[in-house]
Amino acid sequence: MFCTQCGNKVDSSSRFCTACGAPAPAAPPVGYYPSTTQLTRPRHDRMIAGVCAGFALHYGWDLSLVRVLTALMIVLTGVGAIAYIAAWVIIPEAPYALTAKST
Ligand SMILES: [Zn+2]
Repeated sequence: MFCTQCGNKVDSSSRFCTACGAPAPAAPPVGYYPSTTQLTRPRHDRMIAGVCAGFALHYGWDLSLVRVLTALMIVLTGVGAIAYIAAWVIIPEAPYALTAKST
C-alpha cells in the first residue's frame, strides 16, 4: 500500500510512513471487498443464477453476448454447464444494497 500523504510505498506491517511519518493507511478489514472489484452475481438482470450478468457487469461485456456464448458453450461442448454450475457455486451473490450502475 501507499502513504496517503506523500505517496511513498509503505510496508503493510509498518504503522507509519517511513518518508513523512504519517500514519499508514489502514488495511481493509478481512472479508470486505469493494463492489467494483469483486465478481458477484447481481440480484437483478438474472436469468438462472446471475452468472452471465455477473461476468457481464464485472468485465463490462455485453450481457446478451455473454448469454449467447454461454448457451453455445453448454449446447456445443457440455463443458459450459459444468462451468456455469461451478461459477454459480463459487461466485458470491451481490449484497442486497448493491444497485445497478447502468440504471
Ligand atoms: Zn508518507
